[in-house]
Amino acid sequence: MTTQNSGTTGSVSAGSVTLVGGGPGAAELLTVAAVTALHQADVVLFDRLAPNDELALLAPGATLVDVGKRAGSHPVSQAGIEELMVEHALAGKRVVRLKGGDPYVFGRGSEEVIACHRNGIAVTVISGVTSAIAVPAAAGIPLTHRGISHAFTVISGHAPLTDNELAGLTLLGSTVVVLMGVGTLPTLSQGLLRHGMPAHMPVAIIERGFSATQRTTVSTLSSVLADAATAGVRSPAVLVIGEVVRLAFRGDAAAEDLVARAAEFAVAD
Ligand code: SAH
Repeated sequence: MTTQNSGTTGSVSAGSVTLVGGGPGAAELLTVAAVTALHQADVVLFDRLAPNDELALLAPGATLVDVGKRAGSHPVSQAGIEELMVEHALAGKRVVRLKGGDPYVFGRGSEEVIACHRNGIAVTVISGVTSAIAVPAAAGIPLTHRGISHAFTVISGHAPLTDNELAGLTLLGSTVVVLMGVGTLPTLSQGLLRHGMPAHMPVAIIERGFSATQRTTVSTLSSVLADAATAGVRSPAVLVIGEVVRLAFRGDAAAEDLVARAAEFAVAD
């Protein structure tokens, strides 16, 4: 077994890096620790999905550097981001690397931490509110509900899932949340159907959570491809696959029935 001191280690005179989870895009969902780190920053490297509208106010003393990646193009490569981060920290700056959501959920945060360690730079990570949970919530969808789903799996749609993964998700029978899933929706929906997930399983796609143009498209596993195409669904979006999607619709008869059945089930245990 090995033990390590957590948090900041390394030279005092050198700068530091703080990876800050910026939440799903609303400044109110920044943590107090995130606001404090931004306020003290000399340099902020920020992403497209990080809350960046009010950055000048949140980080009044900082040079703001946009390293955001747009789908299909990479203005600053991952290696380039890590180099910038290290370079500024070695020059004695307090660097904040502001990332969308939580730094450790598909954010390549761990790679950036390793880059700091390799260069002897003190690094801390401030957790953020992940879009995986907050964006469905913004659309009224809880990921768990007693008697309906007692687990959720967050997957990246960046690359298609393997047959084993598709079979596992189907067997588990709980809520599936997909980030970066718009491009691979065809293989995901067809794969889950092929592995026996019911065709009528509800699916919600929530685009641009917490923005003025947030939009939710609700469908079923067998119709979602056609419905997403009709609606013109685009990234960034969070997909939710599971019975919990019905809970977003107050007054819906199917949802009422589902909740009634869930309550019976819950009382039984
Ligand atoms: N670390 C981030 C996720 C990075 S992956 C987090 O914890 O939230 C980027 C993906 O997150 C996007 O493709 C999209 O699926 C999702 N995402 C992040 N913010 C979002 C938002 N405001 N609305 C919809 N999807 C969002």
